[in-house]
Amino acid sequence: MGFILICIAIYIKYKPKYQVSINKDIIGYVNSAKDIDEYINNEVKKEEGKNIAFIDLKNIPTLKLELVNRSLENKQEELETELSKQIIIEYTNYAISIDGKNKTYVASKEEAQKIVDEIEKEYDEKYTKNLGITQVYSDNYEQISAVNKKEAKTIISKEIKNIKQSDNKVKTTSIKLASTKKKDSVNGIKFAVKPVTGIITSRYGGRSSPGGFGSTNHKGLDIAASLGTPIYGAASGTVTYSGNKGELGNLVIINHGNGVETYYGHCSKLNVSVGQKVKAGDNIALVGKTGSATGYHLHFEVHLNKVAVNPQNYIY
Ligand SMILES: [Zn+2]
Repeated sequence: MGFILICIAIYIKYKPKYQVSINKDIIGYVNSAKDIDEYINNEVKKEEGKNIAFIDLKNIPTLKLELVNRSLENKQEELETELSKQIIIEYTNYAISIDGKNKTYVASKEEAQKIVDEIEKEYDEKYTKNLGITQVYSDNYEQISAVNKKEAKTIISKEIKNIKQSDNKVKTTSIKLASTKKKDSVNGIKFAVKPVTGIITSRYGGRSSPGGFGSTNHKGLDIAASLGTPIYGAASGTVTYSGNKGELGNLVIINHGNGVETYYGHCSKLNVSVGQKVKAGDNIALVGKTGSATGYHLHFEVHLNKVAVNPQNYIY
């Protein structure tokens, strides 16, 4: 009887809440672990109309369940201010390039392809042969902001006309420009495409995920995305595994050559089979939570000579 009374007394005075901290500094309290995801999703919603490649947090907040006094405030505003400082959004669009130089950007690959096709019909092949399409990424949207199809076509037409005019004057040799982005290749294998659009919830190495789950020595990168989100191959290669593999659930492994492999775990559906050749950007599987996963996400690993390395050194 006494015990029950004590329980009731504790219940009246205290409440279980999650203490949220960043780098060991307590920034506030939330009633549910989902509140953090919800806040991040709300911030991301403000970016409507822009193509988001992925969302990362400078520091992933840690949550600790505690019995706290009911009168303790969640400090909602301070918490949101602190969290907003942590959010990094990486945008993506498609560049139309000439001689490897990006001239304009559009929002979809199909749109870029249509423009290139139309220009190729209008001008002689010797002027259009260096046209290219690349998926580009930036955390500064202004650097890659998309224009509409008509505007993009006008820009490219003007460039091609200039090439045509200068062709009548001086012959110049084109110089292929190296990518300025340092983090996009490993051992000569270029990761042209980010496998999934979503929120990075756990990183490589000894870090725990927001819910306190996940292994202490994490061999990959976790990117949360909803069930059925397409997963794209990061680079071209040959599928060496496509099936169920213990904790990683439904897994795809692609061998890219030069000792480089990529792993895609917890998939809900596998779209490729062993021996199949894939290109960067091919839809190889769908996001799920098979194996040991608490929520829908892609577990992505990069292996160099059979050793898992930090994917964020090369991609994301
Ligand atoms: Zn993982």
